[in-house]
Amino acid sequence: MRTRSFKDENGGILYLVATPIGNLSDITLRAIEILKSVDKIYAEDTRTSGVLLQHYDIKTKVESYHNFNQEEKTESVIDEIRGGMNIALISDAGLPVISDPGYKIVYRARQEGLRVSTIPGASAGISALIASGIAPMPYTFYGFLDAKTTKRKEELKELKYLKSTLIFYEAPHRIHETLSDMEEVLGDRYCCLARELTKTFEEFITGSISEVNKEEYKGEMVVIVSGYKEEDTTLGDPNQKIDEMISLGYKPNDAIKEVAKMFNLDRKELYKNYTLYKNNKGE
Ligand code: SAM
Repeated sequence: MRTRSFKDENGGILYLVATPIGNLSDITLRAIEILKSVDKIYAEDTRTSGVLLQHYDIKTKVESYHNFNQEEKTESVIDEIRGGMNIALISDAGLPVISDPGYKIVYRARQEGLRVSTIPGASAGISALIASGIAPMPYTFYGFLDAKTTKRKEELKELKYLKSTLIFYEAPHRIHETLSDMEEVLGDRYCCLARELTKTFEEFITGSISEVNKEEYKGEMVVIVSGYKEEDTTLGDPNQKIDEMISLGYKPNDAIKEVAKMFNLDRKELYKNYTLYKNNKGE
C-alpha cells in the first residue's frame, strides 16, 4: 500500500509529534504549528502535556491515550481519522511510540490506509547515543528491560553476542540491579550512563559497567552499552564457546554458526570438530 502524507486526501491524518525530553525549548516550529492546528491532541498524561501546551499557548482540545486505555480508545481514534479529523499524538516526552503508547494506533491506521506522518524531534535514546562516544552504528534500541531480574537476565542473554551498541532506558530505583545483571551477563563492558539530558543536571558517566555502578544516580537515564567484541572476551576454545552459547539458549547449529563467524573458521569443519569434542567427552 502506498500512502502520500500530503498529497492523498483520505480522511484526516495522524501526526506523531515529538515533544521535549526535558528542556521545553526542544520542540520544532512545525510541531507547535501542528499542535495548534489539529482537531484534537491525544496525550499520554494530559496534566504533564498541559505544561508544554500552556507554555506554547496551544489551545487545542486534549484527550488521554495511555497504556491503560489504548485497547478501548484505538478504534475510536481510527474512526475519527477516517471521518476526516486531523489528530496529533504526543507522549510525556520525546517521540511517541518509542517506549511509549501509540504503536497500536499507527498499526491500525496503516492497515486502514489512513495517513500517518511523523513530526521529528528529541528522543532520549538517540540523544544519549550520539553524545556517548560509543560507536553509534550499528545500534540496537532495546528500551526498558524487564523489571524482574530473572526475566531481565534472559533478555540480556539474547543480546549478549550482538555486535551493535545497545541502548537501554532505566528507572533510577532499578539502575543498580540492572547494571549488576548487565555486568554478570554481558561482561564488564564499556558503557555510558546519560542522565537528565537537556536539563540543568545533565551528566554523562562513562567507564566499565562495574565502575559506573559504584555511584548513586537520580533522575531520568539512558544506558548505552558497547556491543560484543571478540577482543572483549578471551576467545579461548571454540568448542567451549559453543557449549557456552548452547547453555545460554542458542540452538547447537546456531551456536556453531556464530562461533565459526567469531573465530573466522569454516562452519562445516567446526561442526565436525565439535562433534568429535563431544564424543571424546562421552556426550
Ligand atoms: N518516548 C521517549 C523517547 O523518545 O525517548 C521515552 C519515554 S520512556 C517512557 C521514558 C524513559 O526515557 C526514561 O525512563 C528514561 O530512561 C528516558 N528518558 C526520557 N527523558 C530523558 C532525559 N531527559 N534524560 C535521560 N533519559 C531520559
